[in-house]
Amino acid sequence: MNYEEQRKRLVEYLISIGYLKSDSVIEAMLKVPRHIFVPEEYRAFAYEDRPLPIGFDQTISAPHMVALMCEHLDLKQDHKVLEVGAGSGYHACVIGCIVKDGIVIAVERIKKLAERAKENIKKASLCRNVKIVVGDGTKGYEKEAPYDRILVTAGAPSIPKPLVEQLKVGGKMLIPVGESKYSQELLLVIKVEKDRIEKKNLGDVAFVPLVGEYGWRE
Ligand code: SAM
Repeated sequence: MNYEEQRKRLVEYLISIGYLKSDSVIEAMLKVPRHIFVPEEYRAFAYEDRPLPIGFDQTISAPHMVALMCEHLDLKQDHKVLEVGAGSGYHACVIGCIVKDGIVIAVERIKKLAERAKENIKKASLCRNVKIVVGDGTKGYEKEAPYDRILVTAGAPSIPKPLVEQLKVGGKMLIPVGESKYSQELLLVIKVEKDRIEKKNLGDVAFVPLVGEYGWRE
């Protein structure tokens, strides 16, 4: 089976288990070649529903998690999105395909990973609206704020204040938060007013730690 057929089968599986629902997310996941974002030695597993190593003790998230987060973010075509934890660049590329007239800023703290993410995105040649930035994403990315949507793809000890500040009123954020470094609850945060947020727990998850000024210490 070639990569395209494997990708189609994975998407059908994610639809069958209820993780993939909306046309825009399905279309994006059918389009983005995950195998390009995975190191060569793991390419054979690129279309299995599991996280894979991308170097520097980091991982590309499992496809069901990418699907679930995209669905809960309720993305619109013109949204400006901040991703904290660009990793391989895959999730940012999927979102870039959904927010066709918008923009995605993806922050990554490990410079080498950020460089690779940029290369991966270039190779995929699908999403010109994705900008990879090196830095501590717990501080957000003030230069492009405010954002319609924010997603954090690493586990935080608490919700970083700058991220709430950089979210538009009415905006939504997804962030894994937990007292332990390796297990969290995935929170949907809605900024209902300038100084008020509402939170909904979407269930238990396990992400790598969010390391930075408003995250875990190194
Ligand atoms: N979304 C990624 C993808 O599609 O490949 C996977 C993200 S991986 C689970 C988490 C990433 O968050 C790692 O690459 C890690 O280096 C990064 N990270 C951790 N703390 C960070 C911080 N403070 N700022 C930016 N990135 C951070």
